[in-house]
Amino acid sequence: MSKRLHIGCHLSSSKGYLCMGKQILSMGGDTFQFFTRNPRGSKAKAMDPEDAKALMDLMERENFAKILAHAPYTLNPASADPKVREFAELTIIDDLERMEYTPGQLYNFHPGSHVGQGTEEGIRLISDLLNRVLKPEQTTTVLLETMAGKGSEVGGKFEELAEIIRRVELKDKIGVCLDTCHVHDGGYDIVNDLEGVLEEFDRVIGLDKLKAIHLNDSKNPLASHKDRHEVIGGGSIGLEAFTRIINHPALKGLPFYLETPNEIEGYTAEIKLLSGLYE
Ligand code: FE
Ligand code: FE
Ligand code: ZN
Repeated sequence: MSKRLHIGCHLSSSKGYLCMGKQILSMGGDTFQFFTRNPRGSKAKAMDPEDAKALMDLMERENFAKILAHAPYTLNPASADPKVREFAELTIIDDLERMEYTPGQLYNFHPGSHVGQGTEEGIRLISDLLNRVLKPEQTTTVLLETMAGKGSEVGGKFEELAEIIRRVELKDKIGVCLDTCHVHDGGYDIVNDLEGVLEEFDRVIGLDKLKAIHLNDSKNPLASHKDRHEVIGGGSIGLEAFTRIINHPALKGLPFYLETPNEIEGYTAEIKLLSGLYE
């Protein structure tokens, strides 16, 4: 069992990799999430191999948990438009090449929205794309994020993620990132039945596939299919449920990433609060 809670938050990558590492250390965390590029756009800064190496050295020295890169949330690998799908594919390919400067870390993306084509077709498009971009030699684990089931989003049900994974050939390169706000809004009652939800995850997907947790409270009630994050303890999930989540034996040792509506100060306070509740 892990002696400390592996926790961090989403950080801006504008000042570079080493800067993010130092920043999260100063905030009491041992991991972080960042966007690989502008979350809405396509532009990625040129990779600085020395900066990436300096971060890896710091992570090694300070015993960091794995860090999590997040793909732009505007990508839609399940789009009906081949141009939109191609853009998603080229972006993910480029991101995965960049990730090799920080070997062995995690890369998270939203499976996408099928926009009227149906869930089946969305799942087919997503898994076909993954089978083209995943490479046997890559060291990065690519994570599908659990979604709130907003609109025509794919990935709001564990079954949908399981079906994508079933179709992916390089299974050791793929995993899942569970977002507490999303699963809650998607109808999984992690407040009153955490045990049941994790059992269902294990039965449908397999807990061995769970590699990361996005820790967010929710502004909306269970099964609202909304996806509006709230600060920890300020929403419909609540601090007691988060205490159970971070201490659950099936989740212990996983890295937890805050994506709550906060600036650095608020994130620092949440890292301290949750670390103090870790048994
Ligand atoms: Fe996300
Ligand atoms: Fe998330
Ligand atoms: Zn969200």
